[in-house]
Amino acid sequence: MSWGFERGRIYNRRADIHGRFNGQQRGGIVTPAEHAVIVIFTGEEGEAHGYSDRWRDDGVFEYFGEGQIGDMVMQKGNRAIAEQAVNGKSILLFKILPNGVEFEGEMICEGYQTRRAPDRAGNMRDAFVFELRPIDNVTTVVDDILPATDNLAELRKRAFAAATPAPGKAKSTATVFERSRDVRDYVVARAKGHCEGCTQSAPFLRTNGVPYLEPHHIRRLTDGGPDDPRFVIALCPNCHRRVHSGADGAEYNGKLLLSMKAIEA
Ligand SMILES: [Zn+2]
Ligand SMILES: [Zn+2]
Repeated sequence: MSWGFERGRIYNRRADIHGRFNGQQRGGIVTPAEHAVIVIFTGEEGEAHGYSDRWRDDGVFEYFGEGQIGDMVMQKGNRAIAEQAVNGKSILLFKILPNGVEFEGEMICEGYQTRRAPDRAGNMRDAFVFELRPIDNVTTVVDDILPATDNLAELRKRAFAAATPAPGKAKSTATVFERSRDVRDYVVARAKGHCEGCTQSAPFLRTNGVPYLEPHHIRRLTDGGPDDPRFVIALCPNCHRRVHSGADGAEYNGKLLLSMKAIEA
C-alpha cells in the first residue's frame, strides 16, 4: 500500500486521483500543488523498442517524459520527476486500461537519459526517459549501517552529493542503492548516538557496534530510496513508530521537520 493505493487494483482516475489530489486532469504526469505526490500514467506496452515505456530486465521501468512535439523540456512534470530526491515527492505509477487505471506501485527515480525518439508528428526529437524502480525494491537495509568515522564532514559531503546530481549531469554514476546508503550512513553518524527526535540515547548497539537508530524520511510516507539529508532524520525505534503509527504521528512528523532546520542548517 502506498498512499492507500493497492498494487494491481483498478481505480477511477477522475474520482480516486483528481477527486483526492486535484492536479492536471490531462496528460501523463500529474503534479498536484497541495500534495507531495507525482502521479504518472503509462499506456500499454508496445510500439517500437526504445520508443515507449517499458519494464527492463534489470527491474527498471523506462518512462517517457511529457512533451508531444519537439524536444522535451526539463520543466513541470519532467522536472518534478528528475528532482524527486530533492523535492521528496512520492511517484505513483498507474497503467491505463480500458476500464480504469491500475496501480503499479510507488516508484523512485534513479536518473534519466536523453534519447532520440519520434514525437507525435513522427519527427525525431530528444526525449527524456526516466529510469524508475519500485520503491519496495530499494527498501532501506538498516542492518549494514557503517560505523561512524571521525570524518563526519566527508560523510556529509558524500550524502549531499548523493542527493543532488551535479547540474547538467543526466545520470549519476552511483546506483540509487549507493546514493541511498550514503545519505543513511551520514544521517546516523550525524546523530552521534542520540535520537534526533527525543534526544534519548539509542536503545542498543548494532552487532557492528553502531548505535541503533533508524533513518526516517520526513517528507515521504515511505522510507527508502534516494533522498536529501536535510529531510532524513535518525530516530529511535519508539519515535519512528510514533511517526508512522501514532495518533499524533503527523503532528510529530511536523515537529521533526521543524527541528531539522536546526540540525541541518
Ligand atoms: Zn526518539
Ligand atoms: Zn519512517
